Amino acid sequence: MVAKKMGPRFVKQAVADWLDFAFPRSCVCCGDLLLPSEMELCWVCYAKLPFSVHGYGIQNPVAKSLWGRVPVMGGYYLLNYQSRTMTSNVLKSLKYDGGLIMAKRMGELMGEELLLDPMYSRCDALIPVPMHPKKELKRGYNPALVIAQGLSESLGIPVIERVLVKQNTTVSQTKKNRLERWYQTQHVFGLNGLLTGVGHVALVDDVFTTGATAERCLRSLYAGGLEKASVISLAFTV
Ligand SMILES: [Zn+2]
Repeated sequence: MVAKKMGPRFVKQAVADWLDFAFPRSCVCCGDLLLPSEMELCWVCYAKLPFSVHGYGIQNPVAKSLWGRVPVMGGYYLLNYQSRTMTSNVLKSLKYDGGLIMAKRMGELMGEELLLDPMYSRCDALIPVPMHPKKELKRGYNPALVIAQGLSESLGIPVIERVLVKQNTTVSQTKKNRLERWYQTQHVFGLNGLLTGVGHVALVDDVFTTGATAERCLRSLYAGGLEKASVISLAFTV
């Protein structure tokens, strides 16, 4: 009798099971051990995440925050954010080990949602909000870029990397008030190339708070020839 040959899928699952046994993983929200099929977040916590009920469009709170400041076609976010909530645990997890997998998965999830929206068929490319190169080197990756890559896989839309550049800020921002910090962000995003002929892009970030970062990024992109823009964020401060 000839034994059945083990397929690559079986081997991959066996390796994953062994890794989970040898190096148990914990849910980033509740700390419970994860099953091999769970990625960074257990299914119970996933079901309890504060998902946004807003669709993608000009009435989305992300887009509304930018009304009168910079032209946008629409906005979208996945999770409501408040400090010390499950969303803050998810955002914190993006900064540590395993954050890369979480960022990618969250991007894919948003992409699966956005596939349902015809507005998205008008989008030509995704542009992540850049991180300062030194900070990115220290962290190992830019969460906004990895979220954009997850979106890209679900939507089939390309990511344009390194066109926006975060430049040096010479003054510490910790002792500045909100207005001074906003003014400072006016000067930290540069453009590395032109976007002439690029129609509609979506700017991608991990968290949207005052909109100052998105506003400055979009102003730079429009100055480089971009025609239309939208904003996608993993979380939105409510
Ligand atoms: Zn959990």
